[in-house]
Amino acid sequence: MRLKNVPGCRERIAESEYVADEESLISKAGSWKAGFKNHGELHIEIGMGKGKFIHEMALLHPDINYIGIEKYSAVLLRAVEKMEACPKDNLKFIRMDAEIIADVFAPGEVDRIYLNFSDPWPKDRHAKRRLPSREFLARYDKILKAGGRVEFKTDNRVLFDWAVEQLDGSGWKADLITYDLHADEELMKGNVMTEYEEKFSSMGNPICKYIISRV
Ligand code: SAM
Repeated sequence: MRLKNVPGCRERIAESEYVADEESLISKAGSWKAGFKNHGELHIEIGMGKGKFIHEMALLHPDINYIGIEKYSAVLLRAVEKMEACPKDNLKFIRMDAEIIADVFAPGEVDRIYLNFSDPWPKDRHAKRRLPSREFLARYDKILKAGGRVEFKTDNRVLFDWAVEQLDGSGWKADLITYDLHADEELMKGNVMTEYEEKFSSMGNPICKYIISRV
């Protein structure tokens, strides 16, 4: 998701109490949980877009701490505006490219990772940028606690099939795979829709989902 440049958005992000200071991200590794009022688990969404999913998750699960990560300031600003309208103690944001995620979080610091409607990067030469790629799985392996899981949703079947293939020999296994999440009453219990999920499911696209953990 790329929005038109919003004048002053970088400054507004830098001043926001809800966004971690970009200059000191790496020095916070290992102490993210201490920055929250409760001492619950830490769940992160990578590529959160405008933040609908993570904002609703924070509301539904006050005992869990959430961090939403987004690369673009103009997009992140929308999530910040949601927080200004409806603040949550258990939600913070980071503006960064997730390529550096293994430097920003300490080994085992994260309890769960959400990837929702990740950009497909259709050109082969950009495959390493796809968030469910083997390269990113290796980064998640560093920061996720033992027994932690990664949850990925998308309506893009080509990307999803590729993401499932990435698991072969990667040290990760699928605990759940569905090609039509919304048709499964059990799996839909507690499902929070993302912005893209609302848009594409309303067009009739089936939503694929996997939950993976280490072998
Ligand atoms: N998760 C939201 C949803 O489901 O509605 C937004 C989906 S949008 C297609 C993907 C988002 O991921 C974009 O906002 C994009 O800027 C962000 N993104 C892509 N690659 C990223 C990266 N390497 N680091 C951080 N954010 C990234």
